[in-house]
Amino acid sequence: SAKAAGRGRVGIFDEALRHSLDRRALLERELEHALADEHFELHYQPVVEMSTSRPIGFEALIRWHHPVHGLLSPDEFIPVAEKSMLINRIGRWTLHEATAQLARWDAEGAHPHPLTMAVNVSGRHLASRDLVFDVRAALDASGIDPSRLVVEITETVLVDDPIALDNMHTLRAMGVCMAIDDFGTGYTSIGQLPKLPVDMLKIDRSFTGSDESAHHQLVRLIVEAAHAFGLTVVAEGIEGQAQAFALHGLNVDTGQGFFFARPQPAGRARELATLDTLPPGAAAEIVA
Ligand code: C2E
Ligand code: MG
Ligand code: MG
Ligand code: MG
Repeated sequence: SAKAAGRGRVGIFDEALRHSLDRRALLERELEHALADEHFELHYQPVVEMSTSRPIGFEALIRWHHPVHGLLSPDEFIPVAEKSMLINRIGRWTLHEATAQLARWDAEGAHPHPLTMAVNVSGRHLASRDLVFDVRAALDASGIDPSRLVVEITETVLVDDPIALDNMHTLRAMGVCMAIDDFGTGYTSIGQLPKLPVDMLKIDRSFTGSDESAHHQLVRLIVEAAHAFGLTVVAEGIEGQAQAFALHGLNVDTGQGFFFARPQPAGRARELATLDTLPPGAAAEIVA
């Protein structure tokens, strides 16, 4: 009967919901342990100057060494962490670890130029009172100059949120570089750029990865607007040499992508930073 079927559906829904809540609660407990036992690790992807193909800094990207599931990518656990205050504790850990790593590299004296370090900050952390304190503490503990830290926020963050906007202004006044990540996929329009407290745009790989001339025109427009407002432009997701060449021609300032280097553990990342060009030996062909 209809009544039985209706009850059945409710039953199945309850069951599914109960499972997902259980799963979320389990994952939250596991994340707590991972924080306590330091099961997180940062991998570092070089950021390359397009005109020279020289590595000028890194983006820190979190991974989780899960005792059962192995190495987990952020997409598998950051969304869950964002549903609780755990994301702030993960963000605090990431800020400390990334700046400490940069200070260790400085101490090893391997690189002639001061490298930058970009850290992804979740919208929830950005919109909380913790963020400025956490950034200050990480900078104090590491001794890293604020101008070498890039704080990446995604466009989906409500920049209408008064606390988020306040935090962005405060960090920028401290000298931290503020970047909009995945630009082009969210709500921010070029028209909003002059009033946002940001220094850098990272163009999402859905635009930079395409051969379509319409996408090239879009990138050209974004770069022109960004430069007019004094922002630097990073192209994400550069996977091939032709793409690197095209983006350089579109006046993009810096780039990241598998073509230059994949994100990797600290030891190997540091070796890459000591090279003059990425990938080794390719500069002559990339630089126009
Ligand atoms: P994102 O900040 O936009 O980082 C770029 C992502 O693209 C990274 O994935 C990187 O490995 C990947 N990537 C880099 N170059 C290429 C390329 O040439 N081709 C392709 N197909 N992909 C490329 P990953 O490490 O899995 O990170 C995914 C997202 O997770 C990040 O996107 C960021 O939003 C978030 N995330 C990573 N680390 C953290 C963190 O410490 N805290 C927070 N809150 N979020 C993080
Ligand atoms: Mg990022
Ligand atoms: Mg991105
Ligand atoms: Mg992203």
